[in-house]
Amino acid sequence: LPPRAWMINRKLASILLPPPRAANSHKGSFGSIGILGGNNGMTGAAILAGRAALHAGAGRVYLVILATSAPDVDIVHPELMMRSPSELFDLDTLDCLVIGPGMGMDEFTYGWLERALDTDLPLVLDADALNHVAFHSELARKLKQREAPAILTPHPAEAARLLDTDTAVIQGNRQIAATSLSEKFCCQILLKGAGSICARPDGTCFFNTSGNPGLSSAGTGDVLSGIIGALIVQGQTPEDALLLAVYLHGAAADELLKRNNGPVGMTASEVSNAARLLLNDW
Ligand code: AMP
Ligand code: MG
Repeated sequence: LPPRAWMINRKLASILLPPPRAANSHKGSFGSIGILGGNNGMTGAAILAGRAALHAGAGRVYLVILATSAPDVDIVHPELMMRSPSELFDLDTLDCLVIGPGMGMDEFTYGWLERALDTDLPLVLDADALNHVAFHSELARKLKQREAPAILTPHPAEAARLLDTDTAVIQGNRQIAATSLSEKFCCQILLKGAGSICARPDGTCFFNTSGNPGLSSAGTGDVLSGIIGALIVQGQTPEDALLLAVYLHGAAADELLKRNNGPVGMTASEVSNAARLLLNDW
């Protein structure tokens, strides 16, 4: 490997684990995260990200679900605070915003992304937020110019859209793809897929060593975006949060595999639960 490439392994993840909770802690100690997405037919993406953020320890989780038929409570996790998209929810009360899981691509969602980019919040951009950036150069410019940190979490097809190429080119040299994206948008990139790569604008790359094909099912990426955001609102730097989240997500899937809950039929919800178990019993 070139000199500025590192492995994300258990040893590195151990260093990055959040400190034990103080006895006098309260929910404010663990931050507030917002998650925006879940348009018609994809409500589950936002709910999965929200539940994963709860499981990864965020103090408060706000969900803005865009679907017209959005539920006003998650019966499994009524802890999730649902906010209607028309409420013009005050983003400045948050410590991090995850935007994109199941968000859809209409003009209304474009407006939300523009608003998000105009804040000083750390952002996690996933899924359709990435597609918006790929198709609208004004958004790409805003992203590149903003000072607050942003993490982009494309899978190979999303990465291909962002670099205006095709998936085969991305997969042909994943490290080059990840570093090019990081340079292009001046932010951290997580190029997902077997052997996920985290790239930073200074050219440093980290290769994840956890995870398995049990993760190849819908919703696992949404869970990951919720975990990243939850670690950020608990006070980790976006750099540390990304490395730990990626390892933890893969390690959760590896635990499920050991217990024969995969690779066939492993679900995103189980990955979220297994990640919580690991955070409490490393
Ligand atoms: P998404 O495509 O957005 O749903 O994200 C899928 C998630 O599962 C990403 O974190 C991928 O890195 C992970 N994943 C999918 N397939 C594999 C695989 N074969 N090995 C390891 N991780 C995988
Ligand atoms: Mg995804």
